[in-house]
Amino acid sequence: MPIYEFSCNECGVEFEELTGPHVGLEADSVCCPDCGASRVERLPTSSYSPIHRRLTTNERKKLESTRSVDRAARKAEFKRKRQAARDARNRSSGQG
Ligand SMILES: [Zn+2]
Repeated sequence: MPIYEFSCNECGVEFEELTGPHVGLEADSVCCPDCGASRVERLPTSSYSPIHRRLTTNERKKLESTRSVDRAARKAEFKRKRQAARDARNRSSGQG
């Protein structure tokens, strides 16, 4: 699907545009939806690439490790919060 991201050279807005013969719009003739300038720059389609691109083993490992670190940190924080809430309750009740 030839959806491209563009950046306007005039006002700097970034937008996506579906281009191709079937929509009658070539990437070269895209105009800015904001200011109408034809001086737009095509960006590398970063937001779509993860779907189509296959990750290398290294990238996948990196991604998995970030995720697991994230999960462990979140779990620890949850534990800490729960313990703090318990302490607060114990303190306020005065019975332990
Ligand atoms: Zn513009």
